[in-house]
Amino acid sequence: MSEQPSLLLLGAGPIGLAAAAEASAGAIPLRCITTSIDAPWLPNYALWQSDAARLDLTADLRVTFDAVDLVGASGRSRTIPHGYGFLNNTRLQRRLHAASRGSWQQGRVEALTEVPDGASATLDDGTALHARVILDARGSRPEHQGPSLPAQTAFGVEIELLAGHPGLPMRFMDWSFPTPQGEPPSFLYSVPTSPSRLFVEETVLSARPAFAIDRLRERLKARLEGLGLGAAPWVAGTEEHCYIPMGALPPAAGGSVIPLGAAAGWVHPASGYLLGHGLGWARDAARVAATGATAAEVWQAAWPADRRRMWALYRFGLELLLRCDHAQTSAFFDEFFQLPQERVQAYLTASGSANELAATMWMLFAQGSWPLKRRLAAAGVRPEALRLVRELSGD
Ligand SMILES: Cc1cc2nc3c(=O)[nH]c(=O)nc-3n(C[C@H](O)[C@H](O)[C@H](O)COP(=O)(O)OP(=O)(O)OC[C@H]3O[C@@H](n4cnc5c(N)ncnc54)[C@H](O)[C@@H]3O)c2cc1C
Repeated sequence: MSEQPSLLLLGAGPIGLAAAAEASAGAIPLRCITTSIDAPWLPNYALWQSDAARLDLTADLRVTFDAVDLVGASGRSRTIPHGYGFLNNTRLQRRLHAASRGSWQQGRVEALTEVPDGASATLDDGTALHARVILDARGSRPEHQGPSLPAQTAFGVEIELLAGHPGLPMRFMDWSFPTPQGEPPSFLYSVPTSPSRLFVEETVLSARPAFAIDRLRERLKARLEGLGLGAAPWVAGTEEHCYIPMGALPPAAGGSVIPLGAAAGWVHPASGYLLGHGLGWARDAARVAATGATAAEVWQAAWPADRRRMWALYRFGLELLLRCDHAQTSAFFDEFFQLPQERVQAYLTASGSANELAATMWMLFAQGSWPLKRRLAAAGVRPEALRLVRELSGD
Protein backbone atom coordinates (compact mmCIF):
# COMPACT_ATOMS: atom_id res chain seq x y z
CA MET A 1 0.00 0.00 0.00
CA SER A 2 1.17 3.56 -0.58
CA GLU A 3 2.42 5.41 2.50
CA GLN A 4 0.47 8.58 1.72
CA PRO A 5 -3.22 8.81 1.00
CA SER A 6 -3.22 10.02 -2.60
CA LEU A 7 -5.39 10.72 -5.58
CA LEU A 8 -5.10 8.87 -8.86
CA LEU A 9 -6.79 10.12 -12.02
CA LEU A 10 -7.26 8.06 -15.18
CA GLY A 11 -7.86 9.36 -18.71
CA ALA A 12 -6.89 12.60 -20.50
CA GLY A 13 -10.09 13.30 -22.40
CA PRO A 14 -11.82 16.63 -21.75
CA ILE A 15 -13.24 15.43 -18.43
CA GLY A 16 -10.02 13.87 -17.12
CA LEU A 17 -7.94 16.90 -18.09
CA ALA A 18 -10.42 19.35 -16.56
CA ALA A 19 -10.44 17.31 -13.35
CA ALA A 20 -6.64 17.06 -13.33
CA ALA A 21 -6.25 20.82 -13.78
CA GLU A 22 -8.54 21.41 -10.81
CA ALA A 23 -7.09 18.67 -8.57
CA SER A 24 -3.49 19.69 -9.14
CA ALA A 25 -4.21 22.90 -7.25
CA GLY A 26 -5.28 20.84 -4.22
CA ALA A 27 -3.40 19.79 -1.13
CA ILE A 28 -2.83 16.08 -1.74
CA PRO A 29 -0.45 14.31 -4.12
CA LEU A 30 -1.96 13.66 -7.54
CA ARG A 31 -0.93 11.18 -10.22
CA CYS A 32 -2.59 11.00 -13.63
CA ILE A 33 -2.39 8.08 -16.06
CA THR A 34 -3.52 7.98 -19.65
CA THR A 35 -2.84 5.86 -22.70
CA SER A 36 -1.33 8.66 -24.75
CA ILE A 37 -0.56 12.01 -23.15
CA ASP A 38 -0.43 14.12 -26.30
CA ALA A 39 -3.14 12.36 -28.33
CA PRO A 40 -5.29 15.10 -29.85
CA TRP A 41 -9.01 15.17 -29.11
CA LEU A 42 -10.52 14.36 -32.50
CA PRO A 43 -14.30 15.00 -32.23
CA ASN A 44 -15.76 18.33 -33.28
CA TYR A 45 -16.75 19.21 -29.74
CA ALA A 46 -19.50 21.83 -29.50
CA LEU A 47 -21.30 23.51 -26.65
CA TRP A 48 -23.78 26.25 -25.90
CA GLN A 49 -22.24 29.67 -25.43
CA SER A 50 -24.01 30.12 -22.10
CA ASP A 51 -22.13 27.05 -20.81
CA ALA A 52 -18.87 28.26 -22.32
CA ALA A 53 -19.27 31.61 -20.56
CA ARG A 54 -20.11 29.99 -17.22
CA LEU A 55 -17.06 27.72 -17.53
CA ASP A 56 -14.82 30.60 -18.65
CA LEU A 57 -14.26 28.89 -22.01
CA THR A 58 -15.49 31.61 -24.37
CA ALA A 59 -11.95 32.24 -25.63
CA ASP A 60 -11.64 28.49 -26.32
CA LEU A 61 -14.37 28.51 -28.98
CA ARG A 62 -13.15 28.52 -32.60
CA VAL A 63 -16.42 29.16 -34.47
CA THR A 64 -19.44 30.77 -32.86
CA PHE A 65 -23.08 31.42 -33.78
CA ASP A 66 -25.56 33.74 -32.09
CA ALA A 67 -28.47 31.41 -32.85
CA VAL A 68 -29.19 27.99 -34.33
CA ASP A 69 -31.87 26.79 -36.75
CA LEU A 70 -34.26 23.91 -36.34
CA VAL A 71 -35.99 22.45 -39.41
CA GLY A 72 -39.05 20.23 -38.88
CA ALA A 73 -40.24 17.25 -40.92
CA SER A 74 -42.46 19.64 -42.93
CA GLY A 75 -39.40 21.69 -43.94
CA ARG A 76 -40.48 24.68 -41.82
CA SER A 77 -37.52 26.44 -40.21
CA ARG A 78 -37.40 28.05 -36.76
CA THR A 79 -34.57 30.07 -35.20
CA ILE A 80 -33.54 29.22 -31.63
CA PRO A 81 -31.93 32.26 -30.02
CA HIS A 82 -29.16 30.45 -28.15
CA GLY A 83 -25.50 31.02 -28.94
CA TYR A 84 -23.51 27.94 -29.91
CA GLY A 85 -19.87 27.22 -30.69
CA PHE A 86 -17.26 24.69 -31.77
CA LEU A 87 -14.48 24.17 -29.28
CA ASN A 88 -10.86 24.82 -30.19
CA ASN A 89 -9.73 21.43 -28.90
CA THR A 90 -6.00 22.08 -29.20
CA ARG A 91 -6.16 25.31 -27.27
CA LEU A 92 -8.22 23.93 -24.39
CA GLN A 93 -6.16 20.74 -24.24
CA ARG A 94 -2.91 22.76 -23.99
CA ARG A 95 -4.34 25.05 -21.35
CA LEU A 96 -5.54 22.16 -19.19
CA HIS A 97 -2.24 20.28 -19.59
CA ALA A 98 -0.36 23.39 -18.49
CA ALA A 99 -2.65 23.71 -15.47
CA SER A 100 -2.20 20.08 -14.46
CA ARG A 101 1.51 20.74 -14.03
CA GLY A 102 3.10 17.61 -15.43
CA SER A 103 1.18 15.19 -13.21
CA TRP A 104 0.73 12.94 -16.26
CA GLN A 105 2.33 9.58 -16.90
CA GLN A 106 1.73 7.35 -19.91
CA GLY A 107 0.16 3.93 -19.27
CA ARG A 108 -2.84 1.74 -19.96
CA VAL A 109 -4.87 0.68 -16.98
CA GLU A 110 -5.73 -3.01 -17.29
CA ALA A 111 -7.58 -3.55 -14.02
CA LEU A 112 -8.96 -1.69 -11.02
CA THR A 113 -9.31 -3.47 -7.69
CA GLU A 114 -10.81 -2.32 -4.41
CA VAL A 115 -8.33 -2.75 -1.53
CA PRO A 116 -8.90 -2.11 2.21
CA ASP A 117 -7.62 1.48 2.26
CA GLY A 118 -8.61 2.54 -1.25
CA ALA A 119 -8.18 1.06 -4.69
CA SER A 120 -5.41 -0.21 -6.90
CA ALA A 121 -4.82 0.28 -10.63
CA THR A 122 -2.78 -2.30 -12.52
CA LEU A 123 -1.06 -0.94 -15.61
CA ASP A 124 -0.15 -2.89 -18.74
CA ASP A 125 3.51 -3.05 -17.70
CA GLY A 126 2.49 -4.76 -14.46
CA THR A 127 2.92 -1.71 -12.20
CA ALA A 128 0.30 -1.47 -9.45
CA LEU A 129 -0.63 2.02 -8.24
CA HIS A 130 -2.55 2.42 -4.98
CA ALA A 131 -4.60 5.43 -4.01
CA ARG A 132 -7.23 6.30 -1.44
CA VAL A 133 -9.48 7.57 -4.24
CA ILE A 134 -9.27 6.89 -7.97
CA LEU A 135 -11.07 9.24 -10.37
CA ASP A 136 -11.83 7.18 -13.47
CA ALA A 137 -12.33 9.36 -16.57
CA ARG A 138 -11.50 6.66 -19.16
CA GLY A 139 -14.55 7.39 -21.29
CA SER A 140 -17.50 5.16 -22.03
CA ARG A 141 -16.98 1.53 -21.07
CA PRO A 142 -17.68 -1.75 -22.82
CA GLU A 143 -20.27 -2.56 -20.14
CA HIS A 144 -22.15 0.60 -21.20
CA GLN A 145 -22.35 -0.70 -24.73
CA GLY A 146 -24.53 -3.80 -24.43
CA PRO A 147 -27.50 -4.08 -26.78
CA SER A 148 -29.91 -3.09 -23.98
CA LEU A 149 -28.44 0.41 -23.68
CA PRO A 150 -29.52 2.88 -26.35
CA ALA A 151 -26.84 4.76 -28.21
CA GLN A 152 -26.53 7.86 -30.33
CA THR A 153 -24.72 7.22 -33.59
CA ALA A 154 -23.66 9.72 -36.22
CA PHE A 155 -21.56 10.05 -39.31
CA GLY A 156 -20.07 13.45 -40.06
CA VAL A 157 -17.61 15.00 -42.48
CA GLU A 158 -16.40 18.44 -43.49
CA ILE A 159 -17.19 19.35 -47.11
CA GLU A 160 -15.68 21.96 -49.41
CA LEU A 161 -18.39 24.15 -50.90
CA LEU A 162 -18.25 24.51 -54.66
CA ALA A 163 -18.16 28.08 -55.98
CA GLY A 164 -21.62 29.59 -56.06
CA HIS A 165 -23.21 27.25 -53.50
CA PRO A 166 -24.33 29.26 -50.47
CA GLY A 167 -23.93 26.26 -48.13
CA LEU A 168 -26.25 25.85 -45.18
CA PRO A 169 -26.74 27.86 -42.00
CA MET A 170 -25.88 26.55 -38.53
CA ARG A 171 -28.59 23.90 -38.14
CA PHE A 172 -28.91 22.20 -34.81
CA MET A 173 -31.39 19.69 -36.24
CA ASP A 174 -32.93 19.28 -39.68
CA TRP A 175 -35.62 16.59 -39.71
CA SER A 176 -36.82 17.33 -43.26
CA PHE A 177 -35.27 14.23 -44.89
CA PRO A 178 -37.62 11.21 -44.90
CA THR A 179 -36.60 8.10 -42.98
CA PRO A 180 -36.92 4.64 -44.57
CA GLN A 181 -39.87 2.72 -43.10
CA GLY A 182 -39.01 0.80 -39.93
CA GLU A 183 -35.68 2.57 -39.34
CA PRO A 184 -34.96 5.13 -36.60
CA PRO A 185 -35.23 8.79 -37.69
CA SER A 186 -32.10 10.85 -38.20
CA PHE A 187 -31.46 14.56 -38.49
CA LEU A 188 -28.83 16.62 -40.24
CA TYR A 189 -26.54 18.82 -38.13
CA SER A 190 -24.70 21.42 -40.19
CA VAL A 191 -22.04 23.85 -39.00
CA PRO A 192 -20.33 26.35 -41.32
CA THR A 193 -16.70 26.16 -40.19
CA SER A 194 -15.37 28.76 -42.67
CA PRO A 195 -16.80 30.70 -45.64
CA SER A 196 -15.96 27.72 -47.91
CA ARG A 197 -16.41 24.74 -45.59
CA LEU A 198 -19.33 23.07 -43.90
CA PHE A 199 -19.34 20.30 -41.30
CA VAL A 200 -22.34 18.05 -41.94
CA GLU A 201 -23.42 15.16 -39.75
CA GLU A 202 -26.31 12.70 -39.96
CA THR A 203 -27.35 11.65 -36.46
CA VAL A 204 -29.75 9.18 -34.91
CA LEU A 205 -30.45 10.87 -31.60
CA SER A 206 -30.89 7.53 -29.88
CA ALA A 207 -31.76 4.00 -30.90
CA ARG A 208 -31.83 0.58 -29.28
CA PRO A 209 -29.93 -1.24 -30.71
CA ALA A 210 -27.58 1.43 -32.04
CA PHE A 211 -28.19 2.37 -35.67
CA ALA A 212 -25.32 1.45 -38.03
CA ILE A 213 -22.91 4.31 -38.74
CA ASP A 214 -22.43 3.03 -42.33
CA ARG A 215 -26.15 3.50 -42.95
CA LEU A 216 -25.88 7.07 -41.65
CA ARG A 217 -23.05 7.66 -44.12
CA GLU A 218 -25.42 6.51 -46.91
CA ARG A 219 -28.23 8.71 -45.59
CA LEU A 220 -25.88 11.69 -45.42
CA LYS A 221 -24.77 11.17 -49.03
CA ALA A 222 -28.39 10.95 -50.20
CA ARG A 223 -29.33 14.05 -48.23
CA LEU A 224 -26.39 16.04 -49.60
CA GLU A 225 -27.46 15.06 -53.13
CA GLY A 226 -30.94 16.38 -52.37
CA LEU A 227 -29.49 19.65 -51.11
CA GLY A 228 -27.38 20.17 -54.24
CA LEU A 229 -24.23 19.37 -52.26
CA GLY A 230 -23.61 15.91 -53.72
CA ALA A 231 -20.58 17.09 -55.71
CA ALA A 232 -18.95 18.99 -52.85
CA PRO A 233 -15.62 17.25 -52.06
CA TRP A 234 -15.22 15.63 -48.65
CA VAL A 235 -12.18 17.02 -46.86
CA ALA A 236 -9.66 14.22 -46.19
CA GLY A 237 -9.21 13.30 -42.54
CA THR A 238 -12.37 14.99 -41.29
CA GLU A 239 -14.73 12.01 -41.09
CA GLU A 240 -16.33 11.66 -37.67
CA HIS A 241 -17.75 8.29 -36.55
CA CYS A 242 -19.78 8.87 -33.47
CA TYR A 243 -21.04 6.26 -31.00
CA ILE A 244 -22.31 7.57 -27.67
CA PRO A 245 -23.97 5.22 -25.16
CA MET A 246 -27.02 7.01 -23.76
CA GLY A 247 -29.02 6.69 -20.55
CA ALA A 248 -26.49 4.73 -18.48
CA LEU A 249 -27.42 4.49 -14.79
CA PRO A 250 -25.20 6.27 -12.25
CA PRO A 251 -22.42 3.96 -11.07
CA ALA A 252 -23.01 2.22 -7.74
CA ALA A 253 -21.84 4.08 -4.64
CA GLY A 254 -19.59 2.50 -2.05
CA GLY A 255 -16.23 1.93 -3.75
CA SER A 256 -13.04 3.95 -3.94
CA VAL A 257 -13.15 4.24 -7.74
CA ILE A 258 -15.30 7.21 -8.73
CA PRO A 259 -16.14 7.41 -12.44
CA LEU A 260 -16.38 10.86 -14.03
CA GLY A 261 -17.55 12.01 -17.46
CA ALA A 262 -18.68 9.50 -20.09
CA ALA A 263 -17.44 6.72 -17.79
CA ALA A 264 -19.94 7.90 -15.18
CA GLY A 265 -22.96 8.15 -17.46
CA TRP A 266 -22.84 11.96 -17.37
CA VAL A 267 -23.79 12.12 -21.08
CA HIS A 268 -27.04 14.09 -21.32
CA PRO A 269 -29.67 11.37 -21.88
CA ALA A 270 -31.77 13.62 -24.10
CA SER A 271 -29.05 15.03 -26.37
CA GLY A 272 -25.79 13.09 -26.11
CA TYR A 273 -23.91 16.25 -25.10
CA LEU A 274 -21.61 16.21 -22.11
CA LEU A 275 -19.05 19.00 -22.05
CA GLY A 276 -21.29 21.99 -21.28
CA HIS A 277 -22.34 20.53 -17.93
CA GLY A 278 -19.68 17.80 -17.50
CA LEU A 279 -16.61 20.04 -17.44
CA GLY A 280 -18.08 21.96 -14.49
CA TRP A 281 -19.16 18.77 -12.74
CA ALA A 282 -15.64 17.35 -13.21
CA ARG A 283 -14.09 20.44 -11.67
CA ASP A 284 -16.48 20.23 -8.71
CA ALA A 285 -15.78 16.56 -8.02
CA ALA A 286 -12.01 17.02 -8.45
CA ARG A 287 -11.98 19.99 -6.09
CA VAL A 288 -13.63 17.90 -3.39
CA ALA A 289 -11.29 14.95 -4.07
CA ALA A 290 -8.25 17.21 -3.84
CA THR A 291 -9.12 18.19 -0.27
CA GLY A 292 -8.47 14.59 0.80
CA ALA A 293 -12.20 13.85 1.07
CA THR A 294 -13.39 10.25 1.39
CA ALA A 295 -14.52 8.32 -1.66
CA ALA A 296 -18.11 8.55 -0.40
CA GLU A 297 -17.84 12.36 -0.29
CA VAL A 298 -16.37 12.47 -3.78
CA TRP A 299 -19.15 10.19 -5.09
CA GLN A 300 -21.70 12.59 -3.57
CA ALA A 301 -20.00 15.49 -5.36
CA ALA A 302 -20.14 13.55 -8.65
CA TRP A 303 -23.76 12.46 -8.21
CA PRO A 304 -25.64 14.78 -5.81
CA ALA A 305 -29.18 13.55 -5.07
CA ASP A 306 -30.85 16.22 -7.21
CA ARG A 307 -28.63 15.33 -10.18
CA ARG A 308 -29.64 11.66 -9.84
CA ARG A 309 -33.32 12.68 -9.85
CA MET A 310 -32.74 14.91 -12.86
CA TRP A 311 -31.02 12.13 -14.80
CA ALA A 312 -33.90 9.75 -13.97
CA LEU A 313 -36.31 12.27 -15.50
CA TYR A 314 -34.17 12.68 -18.60
CA ARG A 315 -34.01 8.88 -18.95
CA PHE A 316 -37.82 8.83 -18.84
CA GLY A 317 -37.81 11.35 -21.72
CA LEU A 318 -35.23 9.26 -23.56
CA GLU A 319 -37.37 6.11 -23.31
CA LEU A 320 -40.26 8.08 -24.73
CA LEU A 321 -38.25 9.42 -27.64
CA LEU A 322 -36.96 5.92 -28.40
CA ARG A 323 -40.54 4.92 -29.18
CA CYS A 324 -41.25 7.91 -31.43
CA ASP A 325 -41.18 7.64 -35.21
CA HIS A 326 -39.90 10.34 -37.55
CA ALA A 327 -43.05 12.52 -37.47
CA GLN A 328 -43.44 12.15 -33.70
CA THR A 329 -39.79 13.03 -33.03
CA SER A 330 -39.89 16.06 -35.28
CA ALA A 331 -43.19 17.25 -33.73
CA PHE A 332 -41.75 16.76 -30.26
CA PHE A 333 -38.75 19.01 -30.95
CA ASP A 334 -40.83 21.56 -32.83
CA GLU A 335 -43.08 22.04 -29.80
CA PHE A 336 -40.26 21.71 -27.29
CA PHE A 337 -38.43 24.64 -28.87
CA GLN A 338 -41.58 26.77 -28.56
CA LEU A 339 -41.49 26.56 -24.75
CA PRO A 340 -40.21 29.65 -22.90
CA GLN A 341 -36.59 29.93 -23.99
CA GLU A 342 -35.16 29.91 -20.46
CA ARG A 343 -36.80 26.49 -19.98
CA VAL A 344 -35.45 25.25 -23.31
CA GLN A 345 -31.97 26.40 -22.33
CA ALA A 346 -32.14 24.87 -18.84
CA TYR A 347 -33.36 21.56 -20.32
CA LEU A 348 -30.58 21.41 -22.90
CA THR A 349 -27.81 22.47 -20.54
CA ALA A 350 -29.00 20.46 -17.51
CA SER A 351 -28.62 23.64 -15.52
CA GLY A 352 -31.83 23.66 -13.45
CA SER A 353 -33.07 21.47 -10.63
CA ALA A 354 -34.96 18.18 -10.96
CA ASN A 355 -38.21 19.93 -9.98
CA GLU A 356 -37.69 22.61 -12.63
CA LEU A 357 -37.00 19.91 -15.19
CA ALA A 358 -40.18 18.07 -14.20
CA ALA A 359 -42.08 21.35 -14.54
CA THR A 360 -40.70 21.82 -18.06
CA MET A 361 -41.64 18.27 -19.05
CA TRP A 362 -45.10 18.71 -17.59
CA MET A 363 -45.50 22.06 -19.38
CA LEU A 364 -44.58 20.45 -22.69
CA PHE A 365 -47.27 17.83 -22.18
CA ALA A 366 -49.95 20.05 -20.63
CA GLN A 367 -49.55 22.92 -23.11
CA GLY A 368 -48.67 20.73 -26.07
CA SER A 369 -51.00 20.50 -29.04
CA TRP A 370 -53.52 17.65 -29.23
CA PRO A 371 -51.58 16.06 -32.09
CA LEU A 372 -48.47 16.01 -29.86
CA LYS A 373 -50.43 14.57 -26.93
CA ARG A 374 -51.91 11.91 -29.20
CA ARG A 375 -48.45 11.14 -30.54
CA LEU A 376 -46.97 10.87 -27.05
CA ALA A 377 -49.85 8.61 -26.03
CA ALA A 378 -49.31 6.51 -29.17
CA ALA A 379 -45.62 6.30 -28.33
CA GLY A 380 -46.61 4.69 -25.03
CA VAL A 381 -46.38 7.49 -22.44
CA ARG A 382 -48.03 6.02 -19.35
CA PRO A 383 -50.50 7.94 -17.15
CA GLU A 384 -48.69 6.92 -13.93
CA ALA A 385 -45.37 8.23 -15.29
CA LEU A 386 -47.02 11.51 -16.24
CA ARG A 387 -48.57 11.75 -12.75
CA LEU A 388 -45.10 11.37 -11.25
CA VAL A 389 -43.68 14.10 -13.50
CA ARG A 390 -46.62 16.33 -12.59
CA GLU A 391 -46.11 15.75 -8.85
CA LEU A 392 -42.40 16.50 -9.10
CA SER A 393 -43.17 19.65 -11.05
CA GLY A 394 -45.21 20.93 -8.09
CA ASP A 395 -48.18 21.70 -10.34
C1 LIG B 1 -17.54 11.68 -32.14
C2 LIG B 1 -18.11 12.28 -30.88
C3 LIG B 1 -18.50 13.61 -30.89
C4 LIG B 1 -18.98 14.21 -29.72
N1 LIG B 1 -19.35 15.51 -29.76
C5 LIG B 1 -19.76 16.12 -28.63
C6 LIG B 1 -20.07 17.51 -28.62
O1 LIG B 1 -20.03 18.17 -29.66
N2 LIG B 1 -20.43 18.08 -27.46
C7 LIG B 1 -20.51 17.37 -26.29
O2 LIG B 1 -20.81 17.95 -25.25
N3 LIG B 1 -20.24 16.05 -26.27
C8 LIG B 1 -19.87 15.40 -27.40
N4 LIG B 1 -19.59 14.07 -27.36
C9 LIG B 1 -19.86 13.31 -26.12
C10 LIG B 1 -18.72 13.43 -25.06
O3 LIG B 1 -18.49 14.77 -24.75
C11 LIG B 1 -17.43 12.79 -25.53
O4 LIG B 1 -17.61 11.40 -25.63
C12 LIG B 1 -16.22 13.08 -24.63
O5 LIG B 1 -15.06 12.71 -25.33
C13 LIG B 1 -16.25 12.36 -23.29
O6 LIG B 1 -15.18 12.85 -22.54
P1 LIG B 1 -14.43 11.98 -21.42
O7 LIG B 1 -13.25 12.80 -21.01
O8 LIG B 1 -15.40 11.53 -20.40
O9 LIG B 1 -13.93 10.66 -22.17
P2 LIG B 1 -12.99 10.48 -23.45
O10 LIG B 1 -12.95 11.73 -24.26
O11 LIG B 1 -13.42 9.22 -24.11
O12 LIG B 1 -11.53 10.29 -22.84
C14 LIG B 1 -11.11 9.08 -22.26
C15 LIG B 1 -9.61 9.17 -21.94
O13 LIG B 1 -9.23 8.00 -21.23
C16 LIG B 1 -8.10 7.42 -21.84
N5 LIG B 1 -8.18 5.97 -21.62
C17 LIG B 1 -9.09 5.10 -22.13
N6 LIG B 1 -8.85 3.86 -21.69
C18 LIG B 1 -7.76 3.96 -20.87
C19 LIG B 1 -7.05 3.02 -20.10
N7 LIG B 1 -7.38 1.72 -20.09
N8 LIG B 1 -6.00 3.44 -19.35
C20 LIG B 1 -5.67 4.76 -19.34
N9 LIG B 1 -6.32 5.70 -20.04
C21 LIG B 1 -7.35 5.29 -20.80
C22 LIG B 1 -8.23 7.79 -23.32
O14 LIG B 1 -7.00 7.70 -23.99
C23 LIG B 1 -8.74 9.23 -23.19
O15 LIG B 1 -7.67 10.10 -22.93
C24 LIG B 1 -19.11 13.45 -28.51
C25 LIG B 1 -18.72 12.10 -28.53
C26 LIG B 1 -18.24 11.52 -29.69
C27 LIG B 1 -17.87 10.06 -29.66
